[in-house]
Amino acid sequence: MSFTPEQVLEALKKVKHPEKKQDIVALNMVQDLFVEEGQIRFNLVFQRSNDPFISFLRKAATKAVKTYVSRQAKVDIHVKAREKVEKEPVLPGVKNIIAIASGKGGVGKSTIAANLAVAFAMKGMQTGLIDADIFGPSIPKMLSAENKRPSIVNRDNKDFIVPIDTFGVKMLSIGFFVDPNDPVIWRGPMASNALRQFINQTDWGELDYLIIDLPPGTSDIHLTMVQEIPVTGAVIVSTPQKVAVADAIKGVNMFRSEHINVPVLGLIENMSWFTPAELPDHKYYIFGKDGCKDLSEKLNVPLLGQIPIVQSICEDSDTGSPPALTKESPVGEAFMDLAGRLTEEVKKRNENLPPTKIVEVKK
Ligand code: ADP
Repeated sequence: MSFTPEQVLEALKKVKHPEKKQDIVALNMVQDLFVEEGQIRFNLVFQRSNDPFISFLRKAATKAVKTYVSRQAKVDIHVKAREKVEKEPVLPGVKNIIAIASGKGGVGKSTIAANLAVAFAMKGMQTGLIDADIFGPSIPKMLSAENKRPSIVNRDNKDFIVPIDTFGVKMLSIGFFVDPNDPVIWRGPMASNALRQFINQTDWGELDYLIIDLPPGTSDIHLTMVQEIPVTGAVIVSTPQKVAVADAIKGVNMFRSEHINVPVLGLIENMSWFTPAELPDHKYYIFGKDGCKDLSEKLNVPLLGQIPIVQSICEDSDTGSPPALTKESPVGEAFMDLAGRLTEEVKKRNENLPPTKIVEVKK
């Protein structure tokens, strides 16, 4: 007997909160959904612990799953109150959460996120990496983990996902849980749910850095992230090209907006120039020169580094051997420097600014 989280959510959408006139999925009351071999587990989260419909909705949710998914399904619902959930510290063992974002796709955001994580691990820091790029989860391939799958461990009657360990980085990808061939409109809610599980139901242990590779632009994933965890800071990746820089500004503004309020730690310029092997003293500025450097001055955001176009970056990503591993190569060195600069900015931010607040869900 097997069924999918999609089927369960579809069934739960039929359950309406009598007072709020919306279904329990739309109200974000279904959290940490876990489906495995005939068993369905989730938290049913209420705004208030004295909601008069707790018992009613719990029964209605069980009935909906049994009616629309499977009569034999074992349904295990834990009722929680949001006021209590919000008071519990999220990921208490994780010191810094860094979101890697970009305005445009294809600028090398995932390449930078993966290699930064490897560089941090090589510097001896406990590092985790979440690939939340729903449009093209490419990190498993870049880190030779395409055929691996995370395992599950049960502790105190609760299941936890155990991230994959690859090149010293603890990694989870949305690609392991959501079929990349499904249309985005369908993948979106699934991906948000998977991200919540990566945050609330994963055994990350103690981490110095948890890096989150976001989808390009702005999306529900960004919102889910800031509603679930206090993000220490965001880093925006862009090429120097004018159209990419224009979108990078939107990214910076989103994080700096009053509602989101996540500090922007810096910009990273990728594909800054190209130097052919036979002309080592030449730099060709294929996408324009210093686009991010100029932007960093304009927006008063540090420029953390400039990474050139290098054939081996592309090739190594395809063969799953991250270039940051070879720290004596110029590319490896560039990624190590980048990790060093980011560490400095994180330190400054933690000394000067209060901890980031989780964005409250307003209904
Ligand atoms: P994004 O996450 O922004 O969509 P990716 O990291 O997937 O972008 O990179 C897009 C493509 O560009 C990949 O094929 C990657 O290997 C390649 N790439 C990224 N940065 C560089 C670089 N500095 N030099 C050469 N190729 C690069």
